[in-house]
Amino acid sequence: MDIRYVIAIDGPAASGKSTTAKQLAKLLHYVYIDSGAMYRACGLKALQKGIKLTDHESLKEMLSHIDIRIEYAPEGNKIYLDNNDVSARIREADITRLASEIAVIGIVRERMVELQRKMGEEGGVIMDGRDIGTVVFPDADYKFFMVADVKTRALRRWQEATEKDEKLILEEVEQELLWRDKNDSTRKHSPLRQAEDAILIDTSAMSIQQQVEYIYQIVREGKCMK
Ligand code: C5P
Repeated sequence: MDIRYVIAIDGPAASGKSTTAKQLAKLLHYVYIDSGAMYRACGLKALQKGIKLTDHESLKEMLSHIDIRIEYAPEGNKIYLDNNDVSARIREADITRLASEIAVIGIVRERMVELQRKMGEEGGVIMDGRDIGTVVFPDADYKFFMVADVKTRALRRWQEATEKDEKLILEEVEQELLWRDKNDSTRKHSPLRQAEDAILIDTSAMSIQQQVEYIYQIVREGKCMK
């Protein structure tokens, strides 16, 4: 697509954001940026350096020279932390939890938002996360907020893991999602919430194809929300 829109997709974990965003980016020839991966990379770096999340001075120092790079790859974006490919490591359960814990810290969010704005400044970008439509790009051309009931989301995560031969217990996946929903939506800084001008999409009964098609049609119509 020639027009270089900024498209924000927010919502809770496993609501379908990243799969939809990835496919849309391909269709529109846009860049896909997974902002959650950046919080995951921050969590991993703090862990590697043995920095406690209460030690804001050390975190500040860490953030001043953190090097997070997202590179396009046909099988899915690759995430580099200080030039090391951490794409697989940041998806592990300990980092998933740590990402949500580090994401409550104001100085961490400020730095990530700064990097995210830089990555999206030229447009032609789809960014997904929790605060993209509310904080990172409040003037985004299109904003979507994806939700799905927790049982459906847990099943999706469980199926993804099972396909990769990871053995998870469905009830535990559901509990972890509920914990993250609560942590992400009750925090002081940039809590997860729908922007007033975002289009709500409940994906509980939608296929990925339908989710992609739905957003694609809206964007193709070219009626900007601003
Ligand atoms: O999207 P993903 O599940 O990979 O995000 C991991 C964590 O990063 C989330 O649980 C959330 O706490 C945090 N996050 C955030 N703001 C974003 C993206 C992710 O706080 N824009």
